[in-house]
Amino acid sequence: MTATRIDASKLAQNSEPFSFNDQQKNSLFAQLKQQRGILSQTDISSLCQQFQVSQLELLKACVPVASLFSVAPISKFYVGAIAVGLNEQGETNFYFGANVEFSHQALSLVVHAEQSAINNAWLNGAQAVQRIAISDAPCGYCRQFMNELSTADSLEILLPERDFNLHELLPYSFGPKDLGNDACLFSHKQSDKQFADLTIDDAKLIQLALNAYVPYTGNFSAVKLSTFTEGDFYGSYAENAAYSPSLSPLQSALSQFYLAGLSFDDKTVKSITLLETQGAENQYEVAKSVLASFANPPAFEHYIAKLSNA
Ligand SMILES: [Zn+2]
Repeated sequence: MTATRIDASKLAQNSEPFSFNDQQKNSLFAQLKQQRGILSQTDISSLCQQFQVSQLELLKACVPVASLFSVAPISKFYVGAIAVGLNEQGETNFYFGANVEFSHQALSLVVHAEQSAINNAWLNGAQAVQRIAISDAPCGYCRQFMNELSTADSLEILLPERDFNLHELLPYSFGPKDLGNDACLFSHKQSDKQFADLTIDDAKLIQLALNAYVPYTGNFSAVKLSTFTEGDFYGSYAENAAYSPSLSPLQSALSQFYLAGLSFDDKTVKSITLLETQGAENQYEVAKSVLASFANPPAFEHYIAKLSNA
């Protein structure tokens, strides 16, 4: 696959690129909260029609709306990102993401906006991410996180001022192959494993754990965050060749939770369930640690199950 560079000259011919006014932004933000941070192909087409803009113009105009999902009590730096990917039906979707910070916790626990958007695409059936539009230049950690994607060789990074491909921003990189791993995020096959002697009855949690991207530790794991009235939110473990940029299943679930515009408090969140693999478990402490940053942490259930071949 070859990289297709975005022709920004079309936008430059107009003096100002298209942008939403505050009312339009708020209305789209409300719609996105309902749709848990996803615009479908139908939504995208109807917005393009409504505002008489191209898909690319719409994408760039949506980035400030993505930033509205940001929860950044430490930095007050509100980053938005949108991953553009094809779903199982081959339709283009916009998967929104924003940074999430946790007060009184190690800074390494934050979820970056690019991770949040890619995680949103990954959990919701995108087959690949072709481009990502971001409100600010991606940090080194995110460049490394994106280097784990199946599309890393062609990934387009769209910034407000100009566009790049990932390799321009991360030359001479370290990646999965350097660790002898031929899989990558979005390309790995469905798991042929199953959990034995599992006492939990949650098919989605089990499926997400089995399909976690864990080439480095083998800890097939996932998290369910249950709310009192807003349904359940799931997260899965996505590892990275450089280890540190890995996204834990709890971070993954929390990131999805915040994309519904909910606030993490004891009136909203009922419980957190962590499922991980016996002999490879490594998520308990980090989950406890993230939960400890909340004033009234919800109930926490922890399951460790043995993995066996199906
Ligand atoms: Zn980052």
